[in-house]
Amino acid sequence: MAENTLLNTFFLNDKVALITGAASGIGLATAKTFLAANVRGLLLVDLSQERLDRTLLELSSDERQRCQCFVADVSSEAENYAQRALELWGKLDIAVLNAGIVHAPTSILDTDAKIWDKIMQVNGRGVFLGLKQCGKVMTERKSGSIVITASQLGLQGSPSLAAYGASKFAARGLALTAAEEFAPFGVRVNSVCPGPTITPIIDALKEDDGWSRMADQCLMKRLGDAREIANAILYLSSDASSFCCGTSLKVDGGYAKFG
Ligand code: NAD
Repeated sequence: MAENTLLNTFFLNDKVALITGAASGIGLATAKTFLAANVRGLLLVDLSQERLDRTLLELSSDERQRCQCFVADVSSEAENYAQRALELWGKLDIAVLNAGIVHAPTSILDTDAKIWDKIMQVNGRGVFLGLKQCGKVMTERKSGSIVITASQLGLQGSPSLAAYGASKFAARGLALTAAEEFAPFGVRVNSVCPGPTITPIIDALKEDDGWSRMADQCLMKRLGDAREIANAILYLSSDASSFCCGTSLKVDGGYAKFG
């Protein structure tokens, strides 16, 4: 492949994408990266209009013109954002299933089953429903790329974060299954496994030296920047990764011990 052609495969010209959990952290960084990569249309999906309005304020007017917002709880089957992208732009090329939540650190012995249910609701069921609706639209058109934000905690044990870790194993497992089911229809499914990354989701862990303990566990001795995860999501979403299918891409500064 000629050098400039290879570089062009990272650009999203003419592509339509959606990102769940787009109003903060990794989702927001991914939205900005996709816009810089020239995405034609981008559906920003998140829990509230207020959050999405704040997101739009961070974008230039050219970028805003290419974005539409969709308020949805990803764990609700009533919210069909893939269908909305289709109505707006006539197709859906890329879906980043990124929305997720975490719980306060506690051992299994002290974890209430309600916490387990809530985490699984968003991080497990939310990804399953996203795959169902985006997979339907993409397999019918016989093309597309889906990226799931899992975690390095979907690759190894996660003491004190049992429900979260299990939900990320579920998300990565769903990516592997969907990769097999959708590949015959020309749809690629991959997951990204971030290590600890500075976003609001880990704000609460800053106290008691939590951030420096996590940084210490990374070979690179620092936390990630959301833009570093967004770059990996761009790679997996774009034609640059045209031979990746069922990949779990670690982007964790050398944190995960296995996988
Ligand atoms: P974040 O809290 O900054 O962003 C998460 C976004 O998801 C928020 O905008 C939130 O409103 C949205 N969201 C939550 N529940 C939702 C729901 N039910 N429906 C729709 N939107 C919902 O956190 P982040 O770090 O950017 O997290 C993004 C993803 O990355 C999550 O899946 C998270 O588990 C994963 N992850 C994060 C880290 C990290 O250290 N930051 C590490 C590994 C994986």
